[in-house]
Amino acid sequence: MKDGISTLAKAPSWYQTTATDFPELPPLDGDMSCDVVILGGGFTGLTTALELTARGYSCVVLEGDRVGNGASGRNGGQICSGYNPEMGTLVRWFGHDMAMSLWEMAEEAKGIVRDNVERYAIDCDLRWGYLLAGVKARHDRALREHEEELHAYGATGVRYLDKLEIGSWVESERYTSGMYDPTAGQIHPLNYCLGLARAALAAGVRIYEQTEVTRVETGASPAAVTDRGTVRGKYMVLGGNALFRQVPQMASRIMPVGTYIVSTTPMAAERAEKLIRDRMAVADINFVLNYYRLSPDNRMLFGGRVSYSGMDAPGLRQAMRRTMLHYFPQLDDLEIEHCWGGYVDISMNRLPHLGRLGPNTFFAQGFSGHGVALTGLAGRLMAEAIAGTAERFDVFARIPHRPFPGGPLRTPTLVLAMLWYRLRDML
Ligand SMILES: Cc1cc2nc3c(=O)[nH]c(=O)nc-3n(C[C@H](O)[C@H](O)[C@H](O)COP(=O)(O)OP(=O)(O)OC[C@H]3O[C@@H](n4cnc5c(N)ncnc54)[C@H](O)[C@@H]3O)c2cc1C
Repeated sequence: MKDGISTLAKAPSWYQTTATDFPELPPLDGDMSCDVVILGGGFTGLTTALELTARGYSCVVLEGDRVGNGASGRNGGQICSGYNPEMGTLVRWFGHDMAMSLWEMAEEAKGIVRDNVERYAIDCDLRWGYLLAGVKARHDRALREHEEELHAYGATGVRYLDKLEIGSWVESERYTSGMYDPTAGQIHPLNYCLGLARAALAAGVRIYEQTEVTRVETGASPAAVTDRGTVRGKYMVLGGNALFRQVPQMASRIMPVGTYIVSTTPMAAERAEKLIRDRMAVADINFVLNYYRLSPDNRMLFGGRVSYSGMDAPGLRQAMRRTMLHYFPQLDDLEIEHCWGGYVDISMNRLPHLGRLGPNTFFAQGFSGHGVALTGLAGRLMAEAIAGTAERFDVFARIPHRPFPGGPLRTPTLVLAMLWYRLRDML
């Protein structure tokens, strides 16, 4: 799995063509020790390292590939509000108080992205403003209810949009309703990730690339073991996400689901501005959703489709183009320049999975499509827990996460279940 069944999970992305300079970092060479050894050079690992160095801990980050080559540098860049499950569901599962505490932390998560970009002067095209779009009567009702619910939780800026209004924001005939959220937004995810890494290096974090952790020791004095040496810490943080399969207790509780993005050739600026007013990030609310936005150089970055088997469907590039043209037939003259994918870390209940593997080993995974914002929160909560205040970390750690059913058959089972949801969307 680490090498990827999906070739598109390694395919060059538009983000890489517009990445800010970042040096190639050396692999680990020999044994060393530090306060906290961190596995993973994505948002989770790097934000944890930054939160910890700010509290005076020395950190070593071990990255099996290059910084930002996992989901963090390849995603849709959408900074979403809340969680994958809606607030009503969280209240039903956990009661009002815990749901409210989860809501407040998700709001904080977006602020962490904003603060990191400002504090570390990260050049990553951060923009605020977000649209959810519905395509059928059921979605219209859901969006109205969603607006009511969010107002009740204090998100008074969100606003339901009828067909006419969503049509004035997005130049597509397909949408029947929408919701505007001024507090969600978008970033160039790879440049955000590289900016976090640059800030971490400047703060004294030692980052080693091309250093795969082959085994972890989770006792009182935890260690990450690699072919090139062992790093022992007083604490360890595992932020390996969808492709970290070494710990069965973690791997069984998330499913690496392939998802894809295409970028088009550029269009004229006036045309882009007419296509999506204020260059808002947009997502529809189908179960298998489409998410898209404009690049600063006026390309459409259109994401969607999923592969529950982890393998790329044949003709994916053309299929993605067809989906984009279904919503925007006027883009027919544009070519697809890049098509890439990655693995999104889905948990069974679609909530982040945070926990401990031993007294001093912490992990965070399973962000279920909301990781751009929620990883920074997870980094902060793990740093708080290491520094001795685990209350907020434990709000998440208390959430039960069941393993995906089916053992070796879990992929076919999931494929069938998801096919059912896709059929439901189509109908
Ligand atoms: C195509 C796509 C679109 C997405 N769109 C969005 C979106 O629009 N909004 C949103 O909020 N979320 C989105 N997501 C999800 C989001 O990108 C992730 O939740 C988030 O990036 C997870 O960050 P992470 O640091 O935990 O994982 P990653 O960024 O995957 O980092 C984990 C790192 O650990 C390394 N690693 C793994 N195993 C080992 C090992 N054994 N030894 C050493 N290193 C190891 C990997 O190489 C990797 O670099 C999307 C994901 C994908 C793939």
